Amino acid sequence: MPETAFAKLHRHFYTITDLNGVGFLLKWDQATYMPPGGAAARVRQLGLIKTLAHERLSSAETGKLLEAAEKEVAGYAPESFEVSYVRVARRDFERAVLLPTSLARRFSEHVAASYQTWTEARAEDDFSRVRSLLETTLELSREIAELHSSGGHLADPLIAEHDFGMTVAQLRPLFTELRETLVPMVRHLSAQNKPDDGFLRRHYPLETQFAFAKARVAEFGYDLSRGRLDPTHHPFAIEFSIDDVRITTRGREDYLPEALFCTFHESGHGMYHQGLEPRFEGTPLADGASAGVHESQSRLWENIVGRSRGFWSYAFPKLKSVFPEQLSGVSEEAFYRAVNVVTPSAIRTQADEVSYNLHVIIRFELELELLEGRLAISELPDAWRAKYADLLGAEVSNDKDGVLQDVHWFSGPIGGAFQGYTLGNILSAQFYEAACRAHPQIPHELEAGNFHTLYRWTRDTIHRHGRVYDPAHLIEQVCGTGIDPAPYLRYLQGKYGELYC
Ligand code: ZN
Repeated sequence: MPETAFAKLHRHFYTITDLNGVGFLLKWDQATYMPPGGAAARVRQLGLIKTLAHERLSSAETGKLLEAAEKEVAGYAPESFEVSYVRVARRDFERAVLLPTSLARRFSEHVAASYQTWTEARAEDDFSRVRSLLETTLELSREIAELHSSGGHLADPLIAEHDFGMTVAQLRPLFTELRETLVPMVRHLSAQNKPDDGFLRRHYPLETQFAFAKARVAEFGYDLSRGRLDPTHHPFAIEFSIDDVRITTRGREDYLPEALFCTFHESGHGMYHQGLEPRFEGTPLADGASAGVHESQSRLWENIVGRSRGFWSYAFPKLKSVFPEQLSGVSEEAFYRAVNVVTPSAIRTQADEVSYNLHVIIRFELELELLEGRLAISELPDAWRAKYADLLGAEVSNDKDGVLQDVHWFSGPIGGAFQGYTLGNILSAQFYEAACRAHPQIPHELEAGNFHTLYRWTRDTIHRHGRVYDPAHLIEQVCGTGIDPAPYLRYLQGKYGELYC
């Protein structure tokens, strides 16, 4: 029997996915065990793989194979594997075609140079070293956005790259609602007496921290026979295939929470990819629905489960048994309160659950002002300080801990990368409410260290589907509503109202 058009397309896409997988393997190695001497060659090798994958995806051959497959599956059910496949493949193809190889190369070379200079500028606390580079990044971001523009806000195509279907027009009211509730909430909570958290800063050997965190994420559902956990500088999850999804973490011997919550967070991303339907291997469907939905899974395990009283009533005795001296005299309740202290600070990655979204909103607003031409790069450090003072009441004493703290603007375009974090927080609460509606026993199970019902629910309702459903459709299907900040605000008000009453 001759090969069908769909099978030919599938064979072609397998090679693109495998090229990306090879690139991810090079990246994982670069961020974990590569000796410093490997750096220059690795940048070259990663660039080569990326170019090969982009050329193949945007080739005339992909166009032809797609057309033939689309004709062949025209009569299939709209949500069938085949129809979903060609729909998502077409979207990826068209995005890739719109970006000329010359601009893609110019942008990736510029970003590589920016990243290198940023690491030095940040260490030296010297914004002037990256100013003109950022000006070029802004120009190129506009250029790329305009290529994909469909008449909305200039940031829309950059946002769509990560959160398909989301626009500035949808995000603005959502973020305004959060801002109006969270600013006074942070102000109120940070004026209260802080629980004692000094014991979190005792000496905790890293190996023991990592082993404890690893045991917990294995209990959550992260499959170590199809993954592994390694230390790195900037934690991430990465996949080479559905059956090899790795997570990374970092920790400090003098601060216990970092390794715990980093590991819980990344395990959520890892479980998402491990939970994809096996037949999605090698297809464009083998990824999360969007950055926001992906982040909802990491926030679910990091915060809603990982920072809950129920979870620690199970896990604290175990933690105490591996750190008996450090935690001697510390009660379960004291520990729970200590890992939920609200202190607005200048650094996003150290933020508590309540103030975290304000850090995101600040970046989102600044990105829009930059793209709209209302703010110049030279004014960025001052604008940053003003927003931190205004929203968080936090003083930003230098640019190192201010405008230079995040890698995003030095590793990609300005625009599109930050909203996903807050969408993830909002969705984590919406999904958790939906899970508890379906299985009211979940909170009791968490107290007993039984995570299976929650894990299975996320796998069956979210992970399994990969990119079959657009994010808005998936959210509607799982929650019965669109994206809605109310459950998240309810969660924060309930938890911190009780903690600080
Ligand atoms: Zn994440």
